[in-house]
Amino acid sequence: MARGSKAVYFFGDKIAEGRAHQKDLLGGKGANLAEMIRIGLPVPAGFTISTEVCAAYTRNNQRYPAGLQAEVNAALHRVEKSMGAVFGDRRRPLLVSVRSGARVSMPGMMDTVLNLGLNEITLQGLIEQTRNPRFAYDSYRRFVQMYGDVVMGLKPETHDDPDPFEEILARKKKQRRVLFDHELSAADLRELVTLFKSAIRERTGETFPEDPHEQLWGAIGAVFRSWMNDRAIAYRKLNAIPEEWGTAVNVQAMVFGNMGDDSGTGVAFTRDPATGEKKFYGEFLINAQGEDVVAGIRTPLPISQLEEVMPKIYKQLLGIQKTLERHYREMQDIEFTIQNNRLWMLQTRTGKRTGKAAVRVAVEMVEEGLITKDEALRRVTPEQIEQYLSPVFDPAAKKKAVEDKRVLARGLPAGPGAATGRVVFNAQDAEAWAKRGDPVILTRIETSPEDIRGMAASVGILTARGGMTSHAALVARQMGKVCVAGCGALQINYKSRRLVVDKRTIKEGDWLSIDGTTGQVIQGQIETRPSEVVQAVLKGRGAKGRQSDVEYRVYDRIMQWADERRRLNVRTNADQPDQAAQAVAFGAEGIGLCRTEHMFFGEGKIGPMREMILAERSEDRRAALAKLLPLQRRDFAGIFREMDGRPVTIRTLDPPLHEFLPHTEKEIRELAQSMNVKPAVLSARVESLKELNPMMGHRGCRLGITYPEITEMQARAIFEAACDVRAQKIKVLPEIMIPLVGHTNELRAQEQVVRRVAEEVFRERKTRIPYLVGTMIELPRAALLANRIAEHAEFFSYGTNDLTQTTFGISRDDSGKFLPFYLDREILPSEPFTTLDFDGVGELVRIGIERGRSTKPDLKIGICGEHGGDPATIEFCHRVGMEYVSCSPYRVPVARLAAARAALLNGSPSKAKKPARPARRRARTA
Ligand code: ADP
Ligand code: MG
Ligand code: MG
Repeated sequence: MARGSKAVYFFGDKIAEGRAHQKDLLGGKGANLAEMIRIGLPVPAGFTISTEVCAAYTRNNQRYPAGLQAEVNAALHRVEKSMGAVFGDRRRPLLVSVRSGARVSMPGMMDTVLNLGLNEITLQGLIEQTRNPRFAYDSYRRFVQMYGDVVMGLKPETHDDPDPFEEILARKKKQRRVLFDHELSAADLRELVTLFKSAIRERTGETFPEDPHEQLWGAIGAVFRSWMNDRAIAYRKLNAIPEEWGTAVNVQAMVFGNMGDDSGTGVAFTRDPATGEKKFYGEFLINAQGEDVVAGIRTPLPISQLEEVMPKIYKQLLGIQKTLERHYREMQDIEFTIQNNRLWMLQTRTGKRTGKAAVRVAVEMVEEGLITKDEALRRVTPEQIEQYLSPVFDPAAKKKAVEDKRVLARGLPAGPGAATGRVVFNAQDAEAWAKRGDPVILTRIETSPEDIRGMAASVGILTARGGMTSHAALVARQMGKVCVAGCGALQINYKSRRLVVDKRTIKEGDWLSIDGTTGQVIQGQIETRPSEVVQAVLKGRGAKGRQSDVEYRVYDRIMQWADERRRLNVRTNADQPDQAAQAVAFGAEGIGLCRTEHMFFGEGKIGPMREMILAERSEDRRAALAKLLPLQRRDFAGIFREMDGRPVTIRTLDPPLHEFLPHTEKEIRELAQSMNVKPAVLSARVESLKELNPMMGHRGCRLGITYPEITEMQARAIFEAACDVRAQKIKVLPEIMIPLVGHTNELRAQEQVVRRVAEEVFRERKTRIPYLVGTMIELPRAALLANRIAEHAEFFSYGTNDLTQTTFGISRDDSGKFLPFYLDREILPSEPFTTLDFDGVGELVRIGIERGRSTKPDLKIGICGEHGGDPATIEFCHRVGMEYVSCSPYRVPVARLAAARAALLNGSPSKAKKPARPARRRARTA
């Protein structure tokens, strides 16, 4: 922090020194408190100590910068004036909250202390002023509890231990035979304060501070230090938040929701965070304070009921939430407190939501005129679109489960979707089981920030306590996890690792299914199946444009907008007609990779395939290939028909031959019989085909070069199929792709075969069909010599799986032994087979594009490796000027959105930088 720069920012009395855009300096909470004051909303006065102070404090061995104390005192004085109360005063004591608040919200990650400034003296003032001793003691015991925990460090010793304060509290409730905190009397609460204080003294050796100023500085330091606590560090790591940011501290005059039945507290969203529906959505509690709603101590009431209890306040709140949403042009998550029938706003921030809600909110805000289409595309992430495509329970299987009375209970539908997995009772087990490959349902009484990593490892989260805005619900939605919260019927016993519900017992490891859309908890495993949107898409509803289904409408609109923006084409990797049809329904504009070898595993094909491979003589091989020809032709015809004129890139045979060979003795015997050879001869031949390193062995174009009759047959099947389909008045556009080319002569040899066969077929059929011959760029040599290879190629398709393997010298199949370790130790920044290694492999991609286009300026270039469906890689592909990406059918919508976002992020640099290249019209469904 620069010396002498401002460290403390006051807000109150309609004046605020900060504003919304200063989140870096004031944290999200502080900046938005200031902004709410600026737009005239009722916010209790306070001040924000900047994030720069936190950074300085952390750097300087927990010492505050000079002058801070004076600034804090001055600001505190302004708060006193504004609230008409005095900090530490006997008659009219000012109480404050000390709240953390980083740049981005980290829900529940850091600590907050409420009711600070209370001691034996100010307590009397509070009692006299309010004539409400119960309230005063309630506030006092909350303060001692929070301060004892957050500042003095009296916490449970291990994960499974109860909270020491909650333990004392529970004992007191039991002794008084009451269920809830608010049923305890003033005298009970007073005893609790004494018990709390002595527990603190006994277990920490420290006396509870009576001096309010000492309390204040203790709390400020604790908030700053909480930036470095384990759970905050874990959360930052998970969300890629830099440590340098630091947190701000907000000191704010208290308002009290626990002053009686004309008081209360609540949290709300301006839209439904689970579905995105435009309706005011939230929960509140009467006579409660702060975290009560979120902590799930009592089950809160839906916000609609506030209209009945306090109609005036409800109306005011409705107005405020509308103002906030219009002001921020974004869905808000708000906290409010009502003190003696007066409404106070305590927080507003961008509301966390499910992927589905995110898409719907963005789309509807465009329709409402709040944001532009481009803003909507920027707001919706490719992962969020994925949620529209994620599975639901198979309705028949679910119905059967219901009929079999396997529904155990119903909780709150806090995170939509369907999850089925094995029950574990703590976060560590969740991580460990998931690592072993078990899908797990993390089942807790309630979750806390310590559980984050375990939640991330689970397929679903189930809690017994807490509402729709509880920790479990918030975090699950953010992670896109299925969650059922507040399922009160569950009796969970952590020690025995059992869950009892309705006289039925579920043990650790038992299967359980949760429906995050209905809240049902169901015993056993239930099959899942495609989401509503996927079903609608596959039924072809899109083509008819029916608008009845909200989910489908929302999905369809954002996809349309994405298509308007993107420059990259999106193709799919498919090798069967039904896959091709699915991909087209998802918006694929062509096939980027049709792997012919998958066809050979099909029915009736593996036999002739094996005969072909095992043939010793060329005639025998041709005989076997002749049997394969009609089968392949049929496959290609089916695909051409489905693709209806869209380009179809077909790769000639690629994998090492022994992948097709018989393995067991029985298989060898049977095959020998049908080939009319001795089993021993066949065994020897199988043995001779084995390779030490098949990945770099006799595969790819090397097969077609050594056995040209294979390529001949494939080319013939392709062109005959093309002619057949064309004869049915369906357009076809085959692109024949030669794999694993390293030397230009390899491509030339194969190109000759393909073109010769094409001419033969065209002559026989007395027709011509346009086609392309191109190659995969998947070896470093091919990328480096792309200028020469381009002489024989009409297109390049980057096979980034092999290119990654050959650039790193890592065999993907053997990488499991060390890659996880590399990632753990951060030797590699990310999994290179998931997100392209932009620096290394990406450099080869760039070189290949540049050199290829130096020979052929309009060379068509795409990617067909696994990376083609990864949003970060798609962004890269856009930047380096590719024409298209190709990915699996279900990733196509993700890729369409990612491509649009890439275009928004980058403009169209490839067109600008390479004026030589003609602007190509996108091959829309021709
Ligand atoms: P978090 O970031 O974990 O939500 P907050 O700082 O928002 O923590 O505070 C925790 C709870 O205490 C919230 O419910 C908030 O509304 C309440 N709270 C904070 N400050 C005050 C205050 N000055 N008066 C009344 N309630 C407060
Ligand atoms: Mg809050
Ligand atoms: Mg390859």
